[in-house]
Amino acid sequence: MEEKTEKNEKPSTIIVSKCMEFRINPTEEQRILIWKTFGCCRFVWNHLLDERISYEKVNKGKLLNTTPAHLKKEHSFLSEVDSMALINTQLNLNQSCRKLFPKEKVPKFRARGKDKRSYTTNWINTNIEIIHKGDRENYIKLPKLGLVRIILHRSIPDEWRMKHATVKETASGKFFISLTFDVETRPTVMKREFDNVEAFDYSMPNLIVSASGDNAITAEDIHWYRNLEKRIAKEQRKLSRMRYGSRNYQEQRHRIGKLHEKARNRRKDFLHKLSCNVSRSFDAVIVEDINLQHMSQALNFGKGISDNGFGMFRTMLAYKLNEQGKVLVKVDRFFPSSKRCCCCHSENRELRLEDRYWRCSACGAVHFRDKNACYNLLQEGDILLNRWASGDSSLILAPSGVLSEKKLHTQTHSNVRQDGE
Ligand SMILES: [Zn+2]
Repeated sequence: MEEKTEKNEKPSTIIVSKCMEFRINPTEEQRILIWKTFGCCRFVWNHLLDERISYEKVNKGKLLNTTPAHLKKEHSFLSEVDSMALINTQLNLNQSCRKLFPKEKVPKFRARGKDKRSYTTNWINTNIEIIHKGDRENYIKLPKLGLVRIILHRSIPDEWRMKHATVKETASGKFFISLTFDVETRPTVMKREFDNVEAFDYSMPNLIVSASGDNAITAEDIHWYRNLEKRIAKEQRKLSRMRYGSRNYQEQRHRIGKLHEKARNRRKDFLHKLSCNVSRSFDAVIVEDINLQHMSQALNFGKGISDNGFGMFRTMLAYKLNEQGKVLVKVDRFFPSSKRCCCCHSENRELRLEDRYWRCSACGAVHFRDKNACYNLLQEGDILLNRWASGDSSLILAPSGVLSEKKLHTQTHSNVRQDGE
């Protein structure tokens, strides 16, 4: 298709947000100020929320929108910390009140020790800046804090414009800063030809299977995760025998927090690497748009941790493919991927969950359950990709990079059984 704006020689660009996270090593003094800032944000949140609630009681249905300025007059310690952090707290409160007031659900007060340990500040006229000193010595200039040692594990492109920065502390006492940038970029040209396509399906003992047989994930691949999980369980049992609130108890909790953090990082790292490899090797990837609760079993690394591994994997895969103009195809959840014979397309209605192998009664082909499902997904995905390539408007490409059929379902054909007898 020809673009209508021919006289405009320059192709239009779009602004996207990009985020990068770095480890920072604040000095003892800076750490105290960061903790103070967390505390002041909590103070502002609680006070403004309290004011709002009492105002709303008197003036039904009206919203109070005050800034932290009057609090600053009464409580001088608020001036010691970054004022942008306090304003962002107020803005966050506004955001959560706008939807909820005057309904029953009111934002919660924040308790000491339980609140999230982070604050956000904004970039205004180079108040935040990366400063290089020496070969490996890098600092980030932050309001009130001054120069904080930063570990720049990757470089930031010069043309990226900083928007805001969030300072946070993890459960294990490490400090990080995540920087958000505005990046001007040309919209990605989406592929319309897909030579190299892969399908993934989840399966219980094997976690994840793929049509080509490569890129599969077995329990063996994540054994390190299971080991870590066992250690967490062991330390948790120790904790349960300790006196609540004692010094030992606190230390043990810290230790467990560290292990959880390690597990989270390892899982994320593993999934990033896997999705990165897959997105580079294929033009399109096909998965089933299955209920995520079933799906979570597939790559749910830990029983104790409710994070959904497969969901995370799919999300990562979608945006990584999308960045390269590729797509993640979601096949309708009512597509009978397991029960259909990939050779003759007749359906085996008697197939049970425990059948690993089965013979098609129509054509005699013998199938390995997981492989058969993948081949079916691949065939169905191919049809969808072809329809999309030819401009079929009943398919939509979501901003997340997922291509799927527009939802038109009023009835579910899985509920309609036509057994006859
Ligand atoms: Zn068959």
